[in-house]
Amino acid sequence: MLSVEEAQQRVFAEVSVLDAEPVLFTDALGRVLREDVFAPLDIPQRDNSAMDGYAVRAEDVANAPVSLRVIEDLPAGSLATKRVEPGTAIRIMTGALLPDGADAVVQVELTDAGREVVRIDRTVSRGVNVRARGEDMRAGDVVLADGTPLRAGEIGVLASVRKTTVQVGRRPVIAILSTGNEVVDVDQPPALGTIVNSNAYALAALVREAGALPRLCGIVPDEREATIAAIESALDADFILSTGGVSVGAYDFVKDALDALGAETKFWRVAMKPGKPVVLSRLRGRLYFGLPGNPVSCMVSFLLFVAPTIRKAMGQRAGVTPPIAMTRLGSAIKSKGDRRTYFRVRVVARDGELVSLPMRAQGSGVLTSMIGANGLAIVDEGVTFVDAGTMTPTVLTAPVVSD
Ligand code: AMP
Ligand code: MG
Repeated sequence: MLSVEEAQQRVFAEVSVLDAEPVLFTDALGRVLREDVFAPLDIPQRDNSAMDGYAVRAEDVANAPVSLRVIEDLPAGSLATKRVEPGTAIRIMTGALLPDGADAVVQVELTDAGREVVRIDRTVSRGVNVRARGEDMRAGDVVLADGTPLRAGEIGVLASVRKTTVQVGRRPVIAILSTGNEVVDVDQPPALGTIVNSNAYALAALVREAGALPRLCGIVPDEREATIAAIESALDADFILSTGGVSVGAYDFVKDALDALGAETKFWRVAMKPGKPVVLSRLRGRLYFGLPGNPVSCMVSFLLFVAPTIRKAMGQRAGVTPPIAMTRLGSAIKSKGDRRTYFRVRVVARDGELVSLPMRAQGSGVLTSMIGANGLAIVDEGVTFVDAGTMTPTVLTAPVVSD
């Protein structure tokens, strides 16, 4: 059976990057940049003061304490009209451009704060408390490269280079189809033998978290023809996800339906738990993911296969798969050992290291095991017991939290 890594490689080999579209930079959060963004100017534009204090010539204060004549007062945003000549200083505020003649700033705390004459108590070397022209960005530099996911820092940089419209990857539309005679929508009464279509809503939320647009396509009964029709009607989306109906049960029709539609199967089982029955197919140019019906398997296989697909399709170049870090296991876990198993854990920062706290119930149907889960601790095939305290490779599926 295919390993998770092999399956991921097969998925990535099938994903092409979608077209780009222009958006206002204020709407670009969570999108992927699709052009190189250049700095048009040096930032800072000129040397400027990093402190409130006095702009001086370093050689004038080499024998501090010394007194200098204050010849001008310079708030941020004002330009000096005078030059700092030997024996003089200009009172300067943080951010104001360094006056000609000055080569250092003495912070106000190291002076008597004089307005006419200032006593400087310490020496400073040239360049001290000066933010150099271009230290942040140099004119012509690529400050943000094509393929960069846009977060708060990147949005700030876009503003500072006045890049108010940017090309970003289009958000893919993800069709979500639920299968199962027992599956009903949230507004149906809780009749015996039914289960709520929680997968569709959990998947829609995961799709949004990944930056794409979910399209809920309803629930299909376990019938061959109905499944074929439902898959066909979902084909205008960029990617199609279905849940359930991909095992070997007598009523699992997804594979049949895909075959009938002429889909090309790329794989249909992955050596992992939860989530073994995962199908990847190409159907009329679209990628189709048949995800397991079990709610946890469904979410875990989304995180490992579909979320990276969305990032890649939007144009992200690096880091599309969730990171794996070593975490210290907070309590022992038992595994069957028959397949590589992903244990849902809450990864916390404790005493300077990452600690994984396994969820109490680990059944693939126990959806509450996903509450607060931000990691998947990996226990390999053949391993049946991992003791508390063991450093364990862990997929980080959401930000680490504090303890
Ligand atoms: P299946 O893979 O179709 O055999 O489904 C496996 C399990 O997942 C069954 O117990 C289903 O009841 C459950 N399941 C299937 N579809 C959904 C869904 N849309 N929402 C929640 N649970 C589901
Ligand atoms: Mg089913």
